[in-house]
Parts: sequence; C-alpha cells; structure tokens
Amino acid sequence: MTIDCRSNQLLKMSWQTGLIKTILDPANLIISTDIAVVIADKYPKARHHYLVLPKEDIGSIFQLNRTHLPLLEELHLLARNIIEVRGECFESFQIGFHAQPSMQRLHLHVISKDFVSDWLKTKKHWNSFNTSLFIPYEALYENLSKDDQIQRLPKARVEELLSKPLACNQCEFVAKNIPSLKEHLLQHQLCSYSKKRFEMSNSTESAKNKLMQRAKIEKPLIETDQAVVIKDAYPKAQYHFIVVSKEDIPSVCALTRDKLPLLDHMKELANQIIEQQQYVAPSNFLIGFKIDAFMNGLNMHVISNDFYSKCMRRVKHWNSFNTELFLTYQAVYAAISFQGSIEPMAAEKADKLLNALPLHCNQCDFKTDILLGLKGHLFEHWEKREHKLQINQEVEKIIRMLDDAKLTTLPKAALTPNRQSL
Ligand code: AMP
Ligand code: ZN
Repeated sequence: MTIDCRSNQLLKMSWQTGLIKTILDPANLIISTDIAVVIADKYPKARHHYLVLPKEDIGSIFQLNRTHLPLLEELHLLARNIIEVRGECFESFQIGFHAQPSMQRLHLHVISKDFVSDWLKTKKHWNSFNTSLFIPYEALYENLSKDDQIQRLPKARVEELLSKPLACNQCEFVAKNIPSLKEHLLQHQLCSYSKKRFEMSNSTESAKNKLMQRAKIEKPLIETDQAVVIKDAYPKAQYHFIVVSKEDIPSVCALTRDKLPLLDHMKELANQIIEQQQYVAPSNFLIGFKIDAFMNGLNMHVISNDFYSKCMRRVKHWNSFNTELFLTYQAVYAAISFQGSIEPMAAEKADKLLNALPLHCNQCDFKTDILLGLKGHLFEHWEKREHKLQINQEVEKIIRMLDDAKLTTLPKAALTPNRQSL
C-alpha cells in the first residue's frame, strides 16, 4: 500500500466517525434522552434535516436484530418529537435510513420533503433520498421483525438506483440535471408558501369572526360599548381571558396615538376581570398583546402566569407568551405614546422566536428543549402555589372563625365584670 493510499484511507475513516464526534459535544444535541440524541445534519439536504442516533455504539442498520425493535421505536419517537418541537407537520417529512449509509453509528434521517438546500449538490444526494436507497422507518421496522436482520443491497443494484433519472418527488417532472431540479423544487416551495399564506389569511379572517361571534352568542363576562371580555376558548393557563376591541383594528401594530383612550379602557376591563378572580393575586396575571403574523384583531390577553393547562400543546404556544413575541400592556402603551406606533416584527424573526429552544421557565432558572419536560416542571410550580393557597385559605378561615367567636364571646365577657360588680 502506498503512503498516499494509506493517508486517504485514514482520512476516510476519520470522516466516517464524524457523527460520533459531533454527538460527544453536548452543544450539538438538540434533544438528548438516556437512549438517544437528535442533532442537526451538518450538511442539510432540505430546509429541515435532523439525525437521530442511539447512545449505544451500534455501527449501522446491518448490526440490528429483533432485540433492537424497542430502540427503533424510541428513535422514531424522537424523530416525531423534533418535528413537533420545530412546529412543523409530520406529513411534510420523510423519516428513514439509507440502505447504503456512509457514516458510522446508526442514524435515522428526519428530513423535510422540500429538498430546498444549498447542500443538495449531486445526483447521488437526490437519489439516496428519493429512490429505494432510502428505507422508510416503517419498512425497515417490518423487515427487521420478519428477518431478524437487514440485508445489504447488491452493489449493482446500488449503482442502478444511483443512476436513476432525477424524478421530482412532488409531481411528474423529470429534471435534466441537478440545477434544473433545484429550480423546480424551489418553485414547489414558493407555491407552498403562497398557499400557506392564503390559508393563513382565510383562517385569520375566520378566527377573528369566530371571536366576535362567540362574544355575541355567549354572554361576555364583561361588555361595554367599546370592548368585550371573554374566556379564551383554548386557555393556555388556569385563568385566561381576552379583551376584544369592538372597533375593527387588525392588530397591535395598527394602533396609533388616538387609540390610547381605547387601550386605557381595555386595561380597565382587564383589571375588572382580574379583580373578580378571588383565588389568584393580581400580580400573577400578565396583560398584553401577541405580536404575530396573525391579524386576529386587537386582542388583549389577560392570563395567569402558571401556564398550567392541557391546551398548552406546542412550543409556539409557550413562546408566544414567553418571548419578545408577547408585549406587555405597559410596553405597548409606552411605545405608542413615544413613537406613535409599534413596528411589526419580520415574519422570519417571529418564526424563529415561535420555535426557539430551549424553553425557559418563567418562574425559575429551569430550561429544557422538551415541552413535556417544561409542562411537568410548571405543574410542580402550580402544585406548590396551590398548596400555599390552600394553607392561606385555611388560615383565613380560622381567623374568620376566631373573629366570629370574639364577636359572640365579647359581650358575654363584657357582661361578666358587670355581674361581678353587682
Ligand atoms: P448517511 O449517508 O446515511 O450515512 O448520512 C450521513 C449524514 O451525516 C449526511 O446527511 C451528512 O450530511 C451528515 N453528516 C456528515 N458529517 C456530519 C457531522 N460531523 N455532523 C452532523 N452531520 C454530519
Ligand atoms: Zn415537481
């Protein structure tokens, strides 16, 4: 073996262990459990591309047998988890293994079907995800259950699949070369953006109508000529109300100085509804507006800061109240008084904030990447608070009883000396 040939081989070996090196650095782990980790693919072949790897040293799919089926289920669970954490929908992803992996350590690809990425450069890249060279998770799971092992594809079959024409994964188009395929994929992506925007504007309109309709059908908790207070239909905390302006103002970013009296009035209604809640201190309420792409109308949220609710189901639910996306009433009032208006947030920034990780607890230093972990943690805060509340209520009851007792016993006591003096 020549020196050149040997150093090439060493280089290849070091490249093949790249994933193992990557997962050794905790900073690279987007999700980590006792069993597996999720990392971002360093050379993503689509807008979203993640890898799920077991902590156990399993070289590749060829080392798997039936005893590994529960492990595969765990990897798949994390794959679904990362899609949810990123606020994406499951149907727009493909999850599976390469029939001919190049890197060491078993890894499950979680990749969005757009394939819009600068790293998608070769026919090999495309065909390794869009022919039988990509084994969907379910297919691999079934094969392993049946055969107790995964067979290697014959070399000739791999070559055949790699040289297949560049067929689009979303329509009948077959591209001449990679640049034309990429341009075509980008068109699909742009179409899906504008479709999404169209659906969003429709759902926004109906969301706003729904809010006002609800306010009309159900008796609002409070109603004035300018605004109503209703319960949020999907409360994100134990107490969650919305003050809806009757005037057609599309969002907090459409407010101007002449609307400051309306803002004042809405705050007054927020205070009233807070006063009606006997079991939460006013200081435990957040009052403010969401600054997001949805032009839902001018809705002021009045929400208890426990965030203990089964409706808190997405990372974006948490982040919409606990990042810069939530503007407190005071901040809004000050910005409009001094600047005259509130600048809308760029859609990209809003999107980033909505999906930002880790999630920081609003009551202590705890942080986590997993919404379920945060929910468990919030529950602990909530339980402690409820416990304190119960003790306070007991103490108040006892004080009241003592007061009552004093009132009834005092006159008697007062009578006694008189009797004595008689
Ligand atoms: P496969 O062909 O299934 O072995 O895929 C290996 C994947 O790992 C490819 O999608 C690469 O882009 C990705 N990759 C290579 N090196 C690294 C690294 N150091 N960290 C993260 N991902 C990597
Ligand atoms: Zn197409």
